Amino acid sequence: SSPVEPVETTPAALRQAQEPMVQARDVHKVFGRGHDAVHVLKGVDLDVARGSVTVVLGPSGSGKSTLLRCVNELEEITAGSIHVDGDLMGYRRDDKGVLHRLHPKVIAKQRSRIGMVFQRFHLFPHKTALENVMEAPVQVRGLTKGEARRRALELLDRVGLAERAEFYPAQLSGGQQQRVAIARALAMDPELMLFDEPTSALDPELVGEVLAVMQDLARSGMTMIVVTHEIGFAREVADHVVFMDDGTIVEEGRPADVLDNPSEPRLQDFLAHVL
Ligand code: ADP
Ligand code: MG
Repeated sequence: SSPVEPVETTPAALRQAQEPMVQARDVHKVFGRGHDAVHVLKGVDLDVARGSVTVVLGPSGSGKSTLLRCVNELEEITAGSIHVDGDLMGYRRDDKGVLHRLHPKVIAKQRSRIGMVFQRFHLFPHKTALENVMEAPVQVRGLTKGEARRRALELLDRVGLAERAEFYPAQLSGGQQQRVAIARALAMDPELMLFDEPTSALDPELVGEVLAVMQDLARSGMTMIVVTHEIGFAREVADHVVFMDDGTIVEEGRPADVLDNPSEPRLQDFLAHVL
């Protein structure tokens, strides 16, 4: 029998435990200026609870990738705010309440707590799976090669690729490459993982192995935002499903409610086409 763990009950710890991992408020993103301006995000509000999985659905061009890229500060938002783990992303508020853009180094530090997995795997082609996973911890975190190697082997084992550690990307299937990409993101010990259509570029028979790794990660308690058209994954793994259209969230809720009982005609239409 396991001993009972003492529960941390200081007010600060309680507040932190209850605070969402991600809090987006009235987020707008406009690309370009003047006549060329494109208003892509039009006031997105989103809470992502700690340890939860949020699946984002929506037609092509609705702003899903842009939203992820804003959370990860690959894009600077035009208005609104995004907090991750209680930190305002990209800005500092001074005593008078005025916002100042943070130094790129500070932004890089904020970003390093967020892992991202893309549709295309972007592995270094001239590095082995192991070297790909070791790269950031050595270069960014300053881990010794020995430490990074040990950790990378653990992570490759976790994604089922212990035997492929010395293989180059070209020697791996798309599904295996994507699992290396997940291990590489995990190597930075992120507190939040973002997935942007991680299985869309894969042959159908390779989709399952990547979704299985993601489901495993979800079970381990990782906070995840997943843009995907895999409705089965949303149904089984998501705690929260969000449907975006034209730059806003038009419906959200628990998977069963959103997927089996959509109230928005646009969502009904979308589901009729992806199922
Ligand atoms: P989704 O991921 O839902 O398909 P995106 O976020 O990729 O949608 O794109 C939403 C809209 O934003 C599209 O109309 C796209 O053309 C536009 N967009 C995305 N990135 C840029 C950019 N860098 N400059 C101009 N428009 C962009
Ligand atoms: Mg996209």
